[in-house]
Amino acid sequence: MTDPHIKQQFFSEIRQAIPERQIYTDSLRTYAWGTDASFYRMTPQVVVRTKNEQEVQAAFKACKKYAIPFTLRAAGTSLSGQSCTDSVLIVAGKGWEQFHLDDDKNAITLQPGITGGRVKKILKPYGRVFPPDPASVGSAMVGGIVVNNASGMNCGVHANSDHMLLSARLVLTDGTVLDTGDEQSREAFRKSHPEFLKKIEALRDEVRKDADLTERIRYKYSIKNVTGLNIRPLVDYDDPFDIIAHSIVGSEGTLAFLSSVRMKTLHEYPYRASAMVYFQTMEESCKAIVALKQLKADEDDMAMTYENLKVKSAEMLDYLSLQSVDDPVYLNYKKDVDAGRIDGVAKGDYHNLTAVLTETKALTPEGLKANIQEVMDTLSRFNLYGEPAFTDDPKVYGKYWSIRSGIFPAVGGQRPVGSSCLIEDVAFHIQDLPHATVDLQQLIARHGYKDACIYGHAFEGNYHFILNQSFATKEEVERYRNMMECMR
Ligand SMILES: Cc1cc2nc3c(=O)[nH]c(=O)nc-3n(C[C@H](O)[C@H](O)[C@H](O)COP(=O)(O)OP(=O)(O)OC[C@H]3O[C@@H](n4cnc5c(N)ncnc54)[C@H](O)[C@@H]3O)c2cc1C
Repeated sequence: MTDPHIKQQFFSEIRQAIPERQIYTDSLRTYAWGTDASFYRMTPQVVVRTKNEQEVQAAFKACKKYAIPFTLRAAGTSLSGQSCTDSVLIVAGKGWEQFHLDDDKNAITLQPGITGGRVKKILKPYGRVFPPDPASVGSAMVGGIVVNNASGMNCGVHANSDHMLLSARLVLTDGTVLDTGDEQSREAFRKSHPEFLKKIEALRDEVRKDADLTERIRYKYSIKNVTGLNIRPLVDYDDPFDIIAHSIVGSEGTLAFLSSVRMKTLHEYPYRASAMVYFQTMEESCKAIVALKQLKADEDDMAMTYENLKVKSAEMLDYLSLQSVDDPVYLNYKKDVDAGRIDGVAKGDYHNLTAVLTETKALTPEGLKANIQEVMDTLSRFNLYGEPAFTDDPKVYGKYWSIRSGIFPAVGGQRPVGSSCLIEDVAFHIQDLPHATVDLQQLIARHGYKDACIYGHAFEGNYHFILNQSFATKEEVERYRNMMECMR
Protein backbone atom coordinates (compact mmCIF):
# COMPACT_ATOMS: atom_id res chain seq x y z
CA MET A 1 0.00 0.00 0.00
CA THR A 2 2.53 2.58 -1.12
CA ASP A 3 0.31 4.74 -3.36
CA PRO A 4 -1.40 7.33 -1.08
CA HIS A 5 -4.31 7.68 -3.50
CA ILE A 6 -5.06 3.95 -3.42
CA LYS A 7 -4.60 3.93 0.33
CA GLN A 8 -7.19 6.67 0.70
CA GLN A 9 -9.67 4.88 -1.55
CA PHE A 10 -9.11 1.63 0.33
CA PHE A 11 -9.75 3.29 3.69
CA SER A 12 -12.86 5.06 2.52
CA GLU A 13 -14.21 1.76 1.19
CA ILE A 14 -13.67 -0.27 4.36
CA ARG A 15 -14.99 2.59 6.52
CA GLN A 16 -18.31 2.29 4.72
CA ALA A 17 -18.68 -1.31 5.89
CA ILE A 18 -16.79 -1.47 9.18
CA PRO A 19 -17.24 0.88 12.18
CA GLU A 20 -14.38 3.37 12.61
CA ARG A 21 -13.67 2.17 16.17
CA GLN A 22 -12.65 -1.24 14.75
CA ILE A 23 -10.08 0.22 12.35
CA TYR A 24 -6.66 1.20 13.70
CA THR A 25 -4.20 3.24 11.69
CA ASP A 26 -2.41 5.19 14.43
CA SER A 27 1.25 4.39 15.04
CA LEU A 28 0.83 3.16 18.61
CA ARG A 29 -1.81 0.52 17.97
CA THR A 30 -0.43 -0.64 14.62
CA TYR A 31 2.96 -1.05 16.35
CA ALA A 32 1.34 -3.01 19.17
CA TRP A 33 -0.27 -5.38 16.66
CA GLY A 34 3.04 -5.76 14.83
CA THR A 35 4.18 -8.98 16.41
CA ASP A 36 2.94 -12.44 17.29
CA ALA A 37 4.77 -14.93 19.53
CA SER A 38 7.58 -15.25 16.99
CA PHE A 39 10.67 -13.05 16.81
CA TYR A 40 9.42 -11.23 13.71
CA ARG A 41 8.11 -7.68 13.78
CA MET A 42 6.19 -6.10 10.92
CA THR A 43 4.03 -3.08 11.60
CA PRO A 44 0.70 -3.32 9.80
CA GLN A 45 -0.52 -0.22 7.99
CA VAL A 46 -4.00 -0.91 9.21
CA VAL A 47 -5.57 -3.29 11.72
CA VAL A 48 -9.20 -4.22 11.01
CA ARG A 49 -11.01 -5.89 13.89
CA THR A 50 -13.96 -7.78 12.48
CA LYS A 51 -17.08 -8.93 14.28
CA ASN A 52 -18.97 -10.86 11.60
CA GLU A 53 -18.78 -12.40 8.13
CA GLN A 54 -20.06 -9.25 6.41
CA GLU A 55 -17.11 -7.28 7.78
CA VAL A 56 -14.65 -9.96 6.67
CA GLN A 57 -16.27 -9.98 3.22
CA ALA A 58 -16.00 -6.18 3.03
CA ALA A 59 -12.31 -6.25 4.04
CA PHE A 60 -11.58 -9.02 1.48
CA LYS A 61 -13.44 -7.12 -1.23
CA ALA A 62 -11.50 -3.90 -0.66
CA CYS A 63 -8.15 -5.74 -0.49
CA LYS A 64 -8.94 -7.58 -3.71
CA LYS A 65 -10.12 -4.45 -5.51
CA TYR A 66 -6.89 -2.56 -4.76
CA ALA A 67 -4.62 -5.66 -4.91
CA ILE A 68 -3.56 -5.18 -1.28
CA PRO A 69 -2.15 -8.18 0.62
CA PHE A 70 -3.76 -9.08 3.94
CA THR A 71 -3.05 -11.41 6.85
CA LEU A 72 -5.51 -13.01 9.26
CA ARG A 73 -5.06 -13.11 13.02
CA ALA A 74 -6.78 -14.92 15.87
CA ALA A 75 -4.84 -14.72 19.20
CA GLY A 76 -1.43 -14.10 17.61
CA THR A 77 0.43 -16.86 19.48
CA SER A 78 2.02 -18.24 16.31
CA LEU A 79 5.72 -18.94 16.54
CA SER A 80 6.84 -18.43 12.95
CA GLY A 81 5.49 -15.00 12.06
CA GLN A 82 2.50 -16.27 10.09
CA SER A 83 0.10 -13.83 11.73
CA CYS A 84 2.31 -10.74 11.12
CA THR A 85 2.16 -8.32 8.21
CA ASP A 86 3.26 -4.89 7.06
CA SER A 87 0.05 -4.54 5.08
CA VAL A 88 -3.54 -5.16 6.27
CA LEU A 89 -4.11 -7.22 9.41
CA ILE A 90 -7.65 -8.65 9.63
CA VAL A 91 -8.38 -9.80 13.17
CA ALA A 92 -11.11 -12.24 14.22
CA GLY A 93 -10.73 -12.86 17.93
CA LYS A 94 -12.99 -11.26 20.51
CA GLY A 95 -16.58 -11.18 19.27
CA TRP A 96 -16.17 -14.51 17.45
CA GLU A 97 -16.80 -16.69 20.49
CA GLN A 98 -20.07 -18.50 19.86
CA PHE A 99 -20.39 -22.26 19.97
CA HIS A 100 -23.00 -24.98 19.67
CA LEU A 101 -22.63 -28.36 21.33
CA ASP A 102 -24.60 -31.24 19.78
CA ASP A 103 -27.21 -32.87 22.02
CA ASP A 104 -25.21 -36.11 22.15
CA LYS A 105 -22.01 -34.03 22.86
CA ASN A 106 -20.13 -35.89 20.13
CA ALA A 107 -19.50 -32.76 18.08
CA ILE A 108 -19.14 -29.05 18.69
CA THR A 109 -19.42 -26.11 16.30
CA LEU A 110 -17.04 -23.28 17.15
CA GLN A 111 -16.39 -19.76 16.00
CA PRO A 112 -12.71 -18.93 15.51
CA GLY A 113 -12.23 -16.50 18.41
CA ILE A 114 -12.98 -18.91 21.25
CA THR A 115 -9.86 -20.10 23.07
CA GLY A 116 -8.97 -23.78 23.16
CA GLY A 117 -8.92 -23.58 26.96
CA ARG A 118 -12.51 -22.38 27.04
CA VAL A 119 -13.61 -25.19 24.71
CA LYS A 120 -12.06 -27.67 27.13
CA LYS A 121 -13.99 -26.10 30.02
CA ILE A 122 -17.26 -26.27 28.06
CA LEU A 123 -16.78 -29.99 27.37
CA LYS A 124 -15.37 -31.06 30.75
CA PRO A 125 -18.70 -31.54 32.58
CA TYR A 126 -19.76 -34.00 29.88
CA GLY A 127 -16.57 -36.07 30.08
CA ARG A 128 -15.64 -34.97 26.56
CA VAL A 129 -12.48 -33.34 25.21
CA PHE A 130 -11.41 -31.11 22.34
CA PRO A 131 -8.21 -32.93 21.42
CA PRO A 132 -5.95 -30.28 19.77
CA ASP A 133 -3.87 -29.22 22.74
CA PRO A 134 -0.98 -26.85 22.02
CA ALA A 135 0.77 -25.75 25.21
CA SER A 136 -0.64 -22.29 24.39
CA VAL A 137 -4.22 -23.62 24.57
CA GLY A 138 -5.18 -21.09 27.27
CA SER A 139 -4.61 -18.22 24.84
CA ALA A 140 -4.65 -19.74 21.35
CA MET A 141 -8.01 -19.55 19.60
CA VAL A 142 -9.85 -22.16 17.56
CA GLY A 143 -9.24 -20.26 14.29
CA GLY A 144 -5.48 -20.25 14.87
CA ILE A 145 -5.34 -23.78 16.31
CA VAL A 146 -7.19 -25.34 13.36
CA VAL A 147 -5.57 -23.21 10.66
CA ASN A 148 -2.07 -23.88 12.08
CA ASN A 149 -2.96 -27.55 12.72
CA ALA A 150 -1.54 -26.97 16.20
CA SER A 151 -1.37 -29.93 18.54
CA GLY A 152 0.39 -30.82 21.70
CA MET A 153 1.13 -33.42 24.30
CA ASN A 154 -1.91 -35.64 23.99
CA CYS A 155 -3.61 -35.29 20.66
CA GLY A 156 -0.96 -36.83 18.42
CA VAL A 157 -1.83 -37.43 14.78
CA HIS A 158 -4.96 -39.52 15.37
CA ALA A 159 -6.86 -36.62 16.97
CA ASN A 160 -5.35 -33.54 15.34
CA SER A 161 -7.61 -30.86 13.82
CA ASP A 162 -7.44 -32.55 10.44
CA HIS A 163 -8.84 -35.79 11.85
CA MET A 164 -11.35 -34.13 14.19
CA LEU A 165 -12.80 -31.72 11.62
CA LEU A 166 -16.26 -32.57 10.31
CA SER A 167 -17.03 -29.47 8.27
CA ALA A 168 -16.02 -25.85 7.91
CA ARG A 169 -17.78 -22.60 7.17
CA LEU A 170 -15.46 -20.48 5.04
CA VAL A 171 -15.32 -17.03 3.54
CA LEU A 172 -13.38 -17.30 0.30
CA THR A 173 -11.30 -14.41 -0.99
CA ASP A 174 -13.95 -13.63 -3.63
CA GLY A 175 -16.38 -13.07 -0.73
CA THR A 176 -18.33 -16.32 -1.19
CA VAL A 177 -19.47 -18.02 2.01
CA LEU A 178 -19.31 -21.82 1.79
CA ASP A 179 -20.51 -24.04 4.61
CA THR A 180 -19.34 -27.54 3.71
CA GLY A 181 -21.66 -29.03 6.36
CA ASP A 182 -24.79 -27.45 4.91
CA GLU A 183 -26.42 -29.00 1.84
CA GLN A 184 -28.02 -25.72 0.71
CA SER A 185 -24.69 -23.96 0.82
CA ARG A 186 -23.01 -26.82 -1.07
CA GLU A 187 -25.71 -26.72 -3.74
CA ALA A 188 -25.34 -22.96 -4.14
CA PHE A 189 -21.58 -23.40 -4.45
CA ARG A 190 -21.99 -26.14 -7.09
CA LYS A 191 -23.92 -23.60 -9.15
CA SER A 192 -21.68 -20.58 -8.50
CA HIS A 193 -18.27 -22.31 -8.63
CA PRO A 194 -18.49 -25.38 -10.92
CA GLU A 195 -14.97 -24.83 -12.31
CA PHE A 196 -13.51 -24.57 -8.80
CA LEU A 197 -14.99 -27.98 -7.91
CA LYS A 198 -13.89 -29.54 -11.20
CA LYS A 199 -10.31 -28.43 -10.55
CA ILE A 200 -10.34 -29.96 -7.07
CA GLU A 201 -11.69 -33.24 -8.50
CA ALA A 202 -9.12 -33.23 -11.29
CA LEU A 203 -6.30 -32.70 -8.77
CA ARG A 204 -7.67 -35.49 -6.57
CA ASP A 205 -7.84 -37.90 -9.53
CA GLU A 206 -4.39 -36.96 -10.80
CA VAL A 207 -2.82 -37.65 -7.41
CA ARG A 208 -4.68 -40.95 -6.98
CA LYS A 209 -3.64 -42.20 -10.42
CA ASP A 210 -0.09 -42.24 -9.11
CA ALA A 211 0.06 -45.10 -6.60
CA ASP A 212 3.58 -44.22 -5.39
CA LEU A 213 2.63 -40.60 -4.76
CA THR A 214 -0.54 -41.65 -2.94
CA GLU A 215 1.44 -44.01 -0.74
CA ARG A 216 4.10 -41.36 -0.09
CA ILE A 217 1.45 -38.83 0.97
CA ARG A 218 -0.11 -41.37 3.37
CA TYR A 219 3.32 -42.19 4.81
CA LYS A 220 4.20 -38.51 5.27
CA TYR A 221 0.92 -37.78 7.05
CA SER A 222 1.18 -40.80 9.35
CA ILE A 223 3.55 -38.65 11.42
CA LYS A 224 3.02 -35.10 12.62
CA ASN A 225 3.56 -33.47 9.26
CA VAL A 226 2.38 -29.88 9.23
CA THR A 227 4.76 -28.55 6.59
CA GLY A 228 3.13 -26.73 3.70
CA LEU A 229 -0.49 -27.02 2.63
CA ASN A 230 -2.35 -30.13 3.73
CA ILE A 231 -2.51 -32.55 0.79
CA ARG A 232 -3.75 -35.58 2.76
CA PRO A 233 -7.40 -34.73 1.88
CA LEU A 234 -6.65 -35.43 -1.79
CA VAL A 235 -5.99 -39.08 -1.01
CA ASP A 236 -8.36 -39.63 1.90
CA TYR A 237 -11.63 -37.92 0.86
CA ASP A 238 -13.70 -38.40 -2.28
CA ASP A 239 -16.10 -35.51 -1.81
CA PRO A 240 -14.58 -32.23 -3.07
CA PHE A 241 -16.29 -30.34 -0.22
CA ASP A 242 -14.48 -32.53 2.31
CA ILE A 243 -11.23 -31.87 0.45
CA ILE A 244 -11.87 -28.12 0.65
CA ALA A 245 -12.79 -28.23 4.35
CA HIS A 246 -9.77 -30.31 5.35
CA SER A 247 -7.41 -28.23 3.19
CA ILE A 248 -8.05 -25.29 5.51
CA VAL A 249 -6.28 -27.20 8.30
CA GLY A 250 -2.67 -26.06 8.33
CA SER A 251 -3.24 -23.46 5.59
CA GLU A 252 -1.98 -20.64 7.87
CA GLY A 253 -4.49 -18.12 6.59
CA THR A 254 -3.55 -18.49 2.93
CA LEU A 255 -6.67 -20.15 1.51
CA ALA A 256 -9.79 -18.73 3.14
CA PHE A 257 -11.22 -17.25 6.32
CA LEU A 258 -12.52 -19.87 8.76
CA SER A 259 -15.81 -18.50 10.04
CA SER A 260 -16.78 -21.58 12.06
CA VAL A 261 -15.74 -25.19 12.31
CA ARG A 262 -17.56 -28.35 13.33
CA MET A 263 -15.29 -30.75 15.19
CA LYS A 264 -15.69 -34.18 16.71
CA THR A 265 -15.15 -34.40 20.47
CA LEU A 266 -13.60 -37.43 22.17
CA HIS A 267 -14.43 -39.05 25.47
CA GLU A 268 -12.06 -38.39 28.36
CA TYR A 269 -10.74 -41.40 30.25
CA PRO A 270 -11.83 -41.09 33.88
CA TYR A 271 -8.70 -42.79 35.26
CA ARG A 272 -5.20 -41.63 34.47
CA ALA A 273 -1.72 -41.76 35.96
CA SER A 274 1.61 -40.24 34.99
CA ALA A 275 5.25 -40.89 35.80
CA MET A 276 8.40 -38.91 35.14
CA VAL A 277 10.90 -41.62 34.24
CA TYR A 278 14.63 -40.85 34.04
CA PHE A 279 17.01 -42.72 31.73
CA GLN A 280 20.81 -42.99 31.77
CA THR A 281 21.04 -42.05 28.08
CA MET A 282 18.91 -40.42 25.44
CA GLU A 283 19.13 -43.43 23.14
CA GLU A 284 17.92 -45.69 25.94
CA SER A 285 14.94 -43.40 26.55
CA CYS A 286 13.98 -43.56 22.87
CA LYS A 287 14.24 -47.35 22.79
CA ALA A 288 11.94 -47.47 25.81
CA ILE A 289 9.46 -45.15 24.06
CA VAL A 290 9.38 -47.48 21.05
CA ALA A 291 8.72 -50.41 23.42
CA LEU A 292 5.96 -48.51 25.28
CA LYS A 293 4.24 -47.78 22.00
CA GLN A 294 4.01 -51.54 21.36
CA LEU A 295 1.88 -52.08 24.48
CA LYS A 296 -1.62 -52.67 23.20
CA ALA A 297 -4.89 -53.61 24.84
CA ASP A 298 -5.40 -56.53 22.50
CA GLU A 299 -2.20 -58.28 21.51
CA ASP A 300 -3.90 -59.97 18.54
CA ASP A 301 -4.99 -56.68 17.13
CA MET A 302 -2.05 -55.32 15.18
CA ALA A 303 -3.67 -51.93 14.60
CA MET A 304 -2.07 -49.29 16.81
CA THR A 305 -5.10 -47.08 17.30
CA TYR A 306 -5.11 -44.58 20.15
CA GLU A 307 -7.95 -46.46 21.84
CA ASN A 308 -5.99 -49.66 22.24
CA LEU A 309 -2.65 -48.13 23.22
CA LYS A 310 -1.85 -48.66 26.90
CA VAL A 311 0.41 -45.64 27.08
CA LYS A 312 -1.34 -42.55 25.77
CA SER A 313 1.58 -40.18 25.65
CA ALA A 314 5.30 -39.96 26.27
CA GLU A 315 7.12 -36.63 26.26
CA MET A 316 10.91 -36.57 26.13
CA LEU A 317 12.89 -33.91 28.01
CA ASP A 318 16.65 -33.70 27.44
CA TYR A 319 19.04 -32.61 30.19
CA LEU A 320 18.95 -28.92 29.17
CA SER A 321 15.17 -28.96 29.31
CA LEU A 322 15.41 -30.43 32.81
CA GLN A 323 18.02 -27.85 33.74
CA SER A 324 15.82 -24.98 32.47
CA VAL A 325 13.14 -25.87 35.01
CA ASP A 326 15.55 -26.78 37.87
CA ASP A 327 14.27 -30.33 37.86
CA PRO A 328 15.16 -31.81 41.30
CA VAL A 329 16.14 -35.22 39.92
CA TYR A 330 18.46 -33.54 37.43
CA LEU A 331 20.07 -31.60 40.31
CA ASN A 332 20.63 -34.90 42.16
CA TYR A 333 22.05 -36.47 39.02
CA LYS A 334 24.60 -33.66 38.77
CA LYS A 335 25.70 -34.36 42.33
CA ASP A 336 25.99 -38.09 41.54
CA VAL A 337 28.02 -37.39 38.41
CA ASP A 338 30.37 -35.02 40.20
CA ALA A 339 30.85 -37.52 43.03
CA GLY A 340 31.80 -40.19 40.45
CA ARG A 341 28.72 -42.30 41.27
CA ILE A 342 27.58 -42.74 37.62
CA ASP A 343 29.58 -45.40 35.79
CA GLY A 344 31.35 -44.25 32.66
CA VAL A 345 30.34 -40.60 33.01
CA ALA A 346 33.05 -37.97 33.52
CA LYS A 347 32.69 -35.20 36.10
CA GLY A 348 30.82 -32.16 34.74
CA ASP A 349 29.20 -34.13 31.89
CA TYR A 350 25.46 -34.17 32.51
CA HIS A 351 24.22 -34.47 28.95
CA ASN A 352 23.15 -38.13 29.13
CA LEU A 353 20.28 -37.80 31.57
CA THR A 354 16.95 -37.86 29.74
CA ALA A 355 13.44 -37.88 31.17
CA VAL A 356 10.26 -39.25 29.69
CA LEU A 357 6.96 -38.01 31.06
CA THR A 358 4.55 -40.81 30.35
CA GLU A 359 0.83 -41.16 30.85
CA THR A 360 -1.55 -44.09 30.88
CA LYS A 361 -5.35 -43.87 30.94
CA ALA A 362 -8.17 -46.34 31.49
CA LEU A 363 -11.91 -46.64 31.83
CA THR A 364 -11.75 -48.43 35.22
CA PRO A 365 -9.42 -48.32 38.27
CA GLU A 366 -8.53 -51.99 37.65
CA GLY A 367 -7.64 -51.18 34.05
CA LEU A 368 -5.39 -48.36 35.22
CA LYS A 369 -3.62 -50.60 37.73
CA ALA A 370 -3.02 -53.27 35.10
CA ASN A 371 -1.67 -50.70 32.64
CA ILE A 372 0.73 -49.29 35.25
CA GLN A 373 2.02 -52.77 36.01
CA GLU A 374 2.61 -53.52 32.37
CA VAL A 375 4.41 -50.22 31.81
CA MET A 376 6.61 -50.81 34.89
CA ASP A 377 7.48 -54.31 33.63
CA THR A 378 8.49 -52.85 30.29
CA LEU A 379 10.55 -50.07 31.88
CA SER A 380 12.42 -52.59 34.03
CA ARG A 381 14.21 -53.79 30.87
CA PHE A 382 15.90 -50.40 30.44
CA ASN A 383 18.77 -48.56 32.02
CA LEU A 384 17.02 -46.05 34.30
CA TYR A 385 18.24 -43.41 36.72
CA GLY A 386 16.23 -43.91 39.91
CA GLU A 387 13.00 -45.82 40.43
CA PRO A 388 10.00 -44.79 38.34
CA ALA A 389 6.77 -44.10 40.21
CA PHE A 390 3.34 -43.51 38.77
CA THR A 391 0.91 -41.16 40.45
CA ASP A 392 -2.82 -40.83 39.90
CA ASP A 393 -2.97 -37.73 42.09
CA PRO A 394 -3.96 -34.84 39.79
CA LYS A 395 -2.06 -32.35 41.98
CA VAL A 396 1.19 -34.28 41.53
CA TYR A 397 0.85 -35.25 37.88
CA GLY A 398 -0.47 -31.75 37.15
CA LYS A 399 2.93 -30.46 38.32
CA TYR A 400 4.77 -32.83 35.97
CA TRP A 401 2.73 -31.65 33.02
CA SER A 402 3.20 -28.00 34.03
CA ILE A 403 6.97 -28.58 34.05
CA ARG A 404 6.70 -29.95 30.52
CA SER A 405 4.50 -27.04 29.34
CA GLY A 406 6.83 -24.53 30.98
CA ILE A 407 10.00 -25.51 29.12
CA PHE A 408 9.61 -23.14 26.18
CA PRO A 409 8.95 -20.00 28.26
CA ALA A 410 11.63 -21.10 30.79
CA VAL A 411 14.33 -21.55 28.14
CA GLY A 412 13.21 -18.37 26.36
CA GLY A 413 13.42 -16.43 29.63
CA GLN A 414 17.04 -17.53 30.13
CA ARG A 415 18.30 -16.49 26.69
CA PRO A 416 21.23 -14.08 26.53
CA VAL A 417 20.28 -10.43 26.02
CA GLY A 418 20.11 -9.61 22.31
CA SER A 419 19.36 -13.17 21.20
CA SER A 420 16.07 -14.57 19.92
CA CYS A 421 14.52 -17.74 21.21
CA LEU A 422 13.77 -19.91 18.16
CA ILE A 423 11.70 -23.06 18.35
CA GLU A 424 11.64 -25.62 15.55
CA ASP A 425 9.82 -28.90 14.97
CA VAL A 426 11.13 -32.14 13.52
CA ALA A 427 9.18 -35.36 13.07
CA PHE A 428 10.35 -38.94 12.55
CA HIS A 429 8.65 -42.30 12.27
CA ILE A 430 8.73 -43.99 15.67
CA GLN A 431 11.07 -46.80 14.56
CA ASP A 432 13.69 -44.18 13.60
CA LEU A 433 13.45 -42.43 16.95
CA PRO A 434 16.52 -43.82 18.82
CA HIS A 435 19.12 -43.02 16.17
CA ALA A 436 17.37 -39.90 14.81
CA THR A 437 17.19 -38.28 18.26
CA VAL A 438 20.85 -38.89 18.97
CA ASP A 439 21.76 -37.59 15.48
CA LEU A 440 19.72 -34.46 16.16
CA GLN A 441 21.47 -33.87 19.50
CA GLN A 442 24.88 -34.31 17.86
CA LEU A 443 23.99 -32.05 14.94
CA ILE A 444 22.98 -29.24 17.28
CA ALA A 445 26.15 -29.72 19.36
CA ARG A 446 28.35 -29.73 16.21
CA HIS A 447 27.08 -26.27 15.39
CA GLY A 448 28.11 -25.00 18.79
CA TYR A 449 24.66 -24.51 20.30
CA LYS A 450 25.59 -25.33 23.87
CA ASP A 451 22.29 -24.22 25.41
CA ALA A 452 19.93 -25.70 22.79
CA CYS A 453 17.47 -28.14 24.27
CA ILE A 454 15.44 -30.91 22.65
CA TYR A 455 12.11 -32.02 24.04
CA GLY A 456 8.64 -32.93 22.95
CA HIS A 457 6.17 -35.44 21.71
CA ALA A 458 8.42 -38.48 21.43
CA PHE A 459 5.45 -40.85 21.23
CA GLU A 460 4.52 -39.15 17.98
CA GLY A 461 8.15 -38.94 16.84
CA ASN A 462 7.87 -35.14 17.04
CA TYR A 463 10.42 -33.00 18.83
CA HIS A 464 10.93 -29.34 19.37
CA PHE A 465 14.37 -27.90 19.70
CA ILE A 466 15.03 -24.44 21.02
CA LEU A 467 17.98 -22.30 19.98
CA ASN A 468 18.88 -19.00 21.54
CA GLN A 469 20.14 -17.33 18.41
CA SER A 470 21.78 -13.97 17.89
CA PHE A 471 21.51 -12.34 14.48
CA ALA A 472 23.91 -9.52 15.40
CA THR A 473 26.91 -10.71 13.37
CA LYS A 474 27.46 -12.31 9.96
CA GLU A 475 29.06 -15.31 11.67
CA GLU A 476 25.98 -15.92 13.80
CA VAL A 477 23.65 -15.66 10.79
CA GLU A 478 25.94 -18.06 8.91
CA ARG A 479 25.98 -20.49 11.84
CA TYR A 480 22.19 -20.54 11.89
CA ARG A 481 22.00 -20.99 8.11
CA ASN A 482 24.46 -23.92 8.20
CA MET A 483 22.61 -25.58 11.02
CA MET A 484 19.25 -25.31 9.23
CA GLU A 485 20.76 -26.53 5.94
CA CYS A 486 22.18 -29.59 7.70
CA MET A 487 18.81 -30.20 9.32
CA ARG A 488 17.19 -30.47 5.87
C1 LIG B 1 4.04 -20.72 24.76
C2 LIG B 1 3.58 -21.32 23.46
C3 LIG B 1 3.43 -22.68 23.37
C4 LIG B 1 3.00 -23.28 22.16
N1 LIG B 1 2.87 -24.63 22.12
C5 LIG B 1 2.47 -25.21 20.98
C6 LIG B 1 2.34 -26.63 20.93
O1 LIG B 1 2.54 -27.34 21.91
N2 LIG B 1 1.96 -27.18 19.75
C7 LIG B 1 1.72 -26.42 18.63
O2 LIG B 1 1.36 -26.98 17.59
N3 LIG B 1 1.84 -25.08 18.66
C8 LIG B 1 2.19 -24.45 19.79
N4 LIG B 1 2.32 -23.09 19.83
C9 LIG B 1 2.03 -22.33 18.62
C10 LIG B 1 0.59 -22.50 18.16
O3 LIG B 1 0.57 -22.72 16.76
C11 LIG B 1 -0.28 -21.34 18.38
O4 LIG B 1 -0.30 -21.19 19.74
C12 LIG B 1 -1.74 -21.49 17.91
O5 LIG B 1 -1.99 -22.49 17.00
C13 LIG B 1 -2.12 -20.27 17.16
O6 LIG B 1 -3.38 -19.86 17.57
P1 LIG B 1 -3.70 -18.33 17.56
O7 LIG B 1 -5.11 -18.19 17.95
O8 LIG B 1 -2.72 -17.56 18.33
O9 LIG B 1 -3.58 -18.01 15.99
P2 LIG B 1 -2.77 -16.87 15.25
O10 LIG B 1 -1.33 -16.92 15.62
O11 LIG B 1 -3.46 -15.59 15.39
O12 LIG B 1 -2.95 -17.38 13.75
C14 LIG B 1 -2.45 -18.61 13.34
C15 LIG B 1 -2.56 -18.75 11.82
O13 LIG B 1 -3.93 -18.91 11.47
C16 LIG B 1 -4.36 -17.87 10.59
N5 LIG B 1 -5.71 -17.55 11.04
C17 LIG B 1 -6.08 -17.10 12.26
N6 LIG B 1 -7.41 -17.01 12.32
C18 LIG B 1 -7.89 -17.44 11.13
C19 LIG B 1 -9.19 -17.61 10.58
N7 LIG B 1 -10.29 -17.31 11.28
N8 LIG B 1 -9.31 -18.07 9.33
C20 LIG B 1 -8.22 -18.39 8.59
N9 LIG B 1 -6.96 -18.25 9.05
C21 LIG B 1 -6.81 -17.79 10.31
C22 LIG B 1 -3.34 -16.77 10.75
O14 LIG B 1 -3.21 -16.02 9.56
C23 LIG B 1 -2.08 -17.55 11.05
O15 LIG B 1 -1.48 -17.99 9.84
C24 LIG B 1 2.72 -22.46 21.02
C25 LIG B 1 2.86 -21.08 21.12
C26 LIG B 1 3.29 -20.51 22.32
C27 LIG B 1 3.43 -19.03 22.38
